[in-house]
Amino acid sequence: MRTALVAGNWKMNGNSASINALMEGLNAELKSNAVDVLVCPPSIYLSQVKALTADSVIALGAQNVSEQNNGAFTGEVSLEMLLDLSCEYVILGHSERRSLYAESDDLVADKFKATVAAGLKPILCVGETLEEREEGNTLAVVERQIKAVVNAAGIEQFTDAVIAYEPVWAIGTGKTATPEQAQEVHAAIRNMIAECDAELASKMRILYGGSVNAANAAELFANEDVDGGLVGGASLKTNDFIAICQAAGA
Ligand code: PEP
Repeated sequence: MRTALVAGNWKMNGNSASINALMEGLNAELKSNAVDVLVCPPSIYLSQVKALTADSVIALGAQNVSEQNNGAFTGEVSLEMLLDLSCEYVILGHSERRSLYAESDDLVADKFKATVAAGLKPILCVGETLEEREEGNTLAVVERQIKAVVNAAGIEQFTDAVIAYEPVWAIGTGKTATPEQAQEVHAAIRNMIAECDAELASKMRILYGGSVNAANAAELFANEDVDGGLVGGASLKTNDFIAICQAAGA
């Protein structure tokens, strides 16, 4: 039995006041352990959100991290810093990091290894572009992205990892994969992991991401292999995010 996880990726949005208001609303409504809830603020606000989640069931995560330990890496944030701020999860390989900041499969694998070594839980994002889907390459792309990390890190490093299937064409576009499209890829991902370790595959949470909202969450999460969501835009709207979390816990 896998407990669903709903992770809010706030991306580069918000300010101190909006974050206080959002967290006040989430803390007031999200008290159940039926679903794991995670928020991933911009790193500059992690400290603020740490204080706001102190008495809450909501966990704290980061949107990215450096693969380096420390030193002369201007603008980067280290795993030690995330641990210092009580972060539990780190999103890795988000398509915006891959496409806008040229993060390669190898770099994502390095970040994954460093994250596990530091004791944090990686949320490894994978997904195909529209062109790749239309060419019939969805599963090949997802397999390449996952295998790059499995081969570099070893399957045993996936024990506490989460995989997020995020079709690039569905992120921030308002276009959502159909429940059937999501289930097909999620089942294939679970099979890829099962080829290495069947027990681990049965326990691993695989999230769907790509324009999840209050209206479509329930039918996406109803699929056998969809264990919750990675939510961008709707995670900034208090009532929508609460509804999505409640759909995952239902
Ligand atoms: C995301 O940023 O991971 C995401 C899925 O965004 P959105 O929900 O806005 O499509």
